[in-house]
Amino acid sequence: MSGPGKLAGLHLLADARKAAKGGERAMAVRQRQRLAAMVTHARTRSPYYRHLYRGLPDPVDDVTCLPVTGKAELMAAFDDWVTDPAITLAAARAFAEDPARVGEPFAGRYTLTTTSGTTGTHGIFLQDAASLTVVGAMMTRMLGSWLTVRDVVRMVRAGVRMALIVPEGGHFGSTVAAARMRGRRRVAAFSVHQPLDDLVDELNAFRPAILAPYASVGALLAGQAETGRLRINPALTILTAEELPLPEYTRIAAALGGMVRTSYAANECPFLSAGCAHGWLHLNADWAILEPVDEHHRPVAPGEPSHTVLLSNLANRVQPILRYDLGDAVLVRPDACPCGRPGPAIRVQGRAADLLTFPAPSGQVSCAPLVLATALEAVPGLELFQIVQSAPAALSIRLLPAPGTEADALWQQVETRLRWLLDRHGLDHVDLHRAAEPPQHSKGGKVRAIMPLPAKASTSTPHTGRTR
Ligand SMILES: [Zn+2]
Repeated sequence: MSGPGKLAGLHLLADARKAAKGGERAMAVRQRQRLAAMVTHARTRSPYYRHLYRGLPDPVDDVTCLPVTGKAELMAAFDDWVTDPAITLAAARAFAEDPARVGEPFAGRYTLTTTSGTTGTHGIFLQDAASLTVVGAMMTRMLGSWLTVRDVVRMVRAGVRMALIVPEGGHFGSTVAAARMRGRRRVAAFSVHQPLDDLVDELNAFRPAILAPYASVGALLAGQAETGRLRINPALTILTAEELPLPEYTRIAAALGGMVRTSYAANECPFLSAGCAHGWLHLNADWAILEPVDEHHRPVAPGEPSHTVLLSNLANRVQPILRYDLGDAVLVRPDACPCGRPGPAIRVQGRAADLLTFPAPSGQVSCAPLVLATALEAVPGLELFQIVQSAPAALSIRLLPAPGTEADALWQQVETRLRWLLDRHGLDHVDLHRAAEPPQHSKGGKVRAIMPLPAKASTSTPHTGRTR
C-alpha cells in the first residue's frame, strides 16, 4: 500500500471495498500510511514543500504536524509546487485558456481543471493517472453503496444513459473527457448555460437513467418536472457542487422520482465524499483527510460549524494538496450515522446555493448561481469577481483585473458575456452595472461569487446559515 501508482485499477477497487468493510480502523490505517508516503513524496519532489517542510521530522504520519497551505500561495509558487519539472504555470494557463483543447490531456498526461471562481484566486489543478484511478474506485464504491441489484437491472434495461449537466467551454476536464471517450450515446454532457426550456427539451429526448446536475440546477429541473414540462424518469440523480436547504432534496426526489444522492468534492480532490440515504456526506477517509477548524486553524468539535476545513489529498502526486485551506464551512456529525458507513459524516454549510430570481414578463425566471459564475471563469485576465443582485432586476458586478490586464477592456468582455447569457434566458431587461468597488471579502476571508438579494437568502433553513 505505498502509492496509488503501484496499484492497478482492480487492485485498488478491491482495496477500497476492503477498507469500507473494515470500518474506521481499516480506513485509519490506510490514511496514516498514505499520508506518510505523500509527505515524503512532496518533500522529495516539490521544491515548494522541500522548503516548507525543512524543519519537520521524517517520516510524518500525523497531519496536524504540517503547516497550513492555501490556494493563493500555492498558485503563486506553481512551478515549484508541482512535482513534474516539465510543468509550468505559463503552459498550464495557455492550455486552460484555449477552448479548443477542452477534454484533451495537458502535457499529454494530466487532467486539468480550473476552479469555479468562488474563493478568490483562480486555481489550476492537475490530476495524474493514479489519482484518476482512485476517482474511479471511489465512484464505483459510491454507486455500490447506493444501488441495489434491482436498481442496476433497471438502469441496464433503460440503457444506462447518463446526463452530465456542465458548463460550456469550461475546463471541467475529467467529466467532459469521460463523456467524449464513451461516446455521446451513453454519457452525454449538456450545457448548463443554455435556456432552461432548451435543456428540458434535450433531456426529454435523451431520457437519462442517471442525471448529474449541480444542486441548484437540479432544483430548477424539479420545478420543470412539477409543471409536467420535464418528462424523464431517472433512477438516480446525483447532485453536486452545492448545498441546498434540506427540504429541497425531498422536493427534488418527489418531482424527479428515483433516488437522489449528493456528492461533495473539489477540484483539489474530486473523490472527497459520497452522500448517504440519511442526507450526510461520508468522507473517503482512506484517500483524503478533511479537518474542520476555526479561524486560527484549531480543531472544531463535532456538532459545531467550522470556520474552514483543511484538506489533504492522499492520491494525487503531481500537485500535492496537504493541509490546504479549502474555505468551506462544514459540520461533522457528532454520533454514528444510521447508514453504518465508515468515514466522518459531514454537512457543508459554505456553499449555499441561493438561486437568483428575476421578475420577467412570464412571471419569474431563476438562474443557478454557478451558471453565471462559470460563464465568467472563461474570461481571461479576470482575477476575481462578485455578482451582486442590487435590485430585483439589476446586477452589480465587482471586478478585480489580473496584473497587466486593462480594466475597461475586461469590463467589456464581462459585460458582453453576461449580457449574452441573460439574453439567452429571456432576461434582456436585467440591468448590468460595473461597481466602483472591488470584490468584498466576508469576515472569513472568502469572496462569495454570487450574492442574491438578501430578502431571499433569509428564507433558507438554518442548515445554510452560519451561527457565528
Ligand atoms: Zn450516513
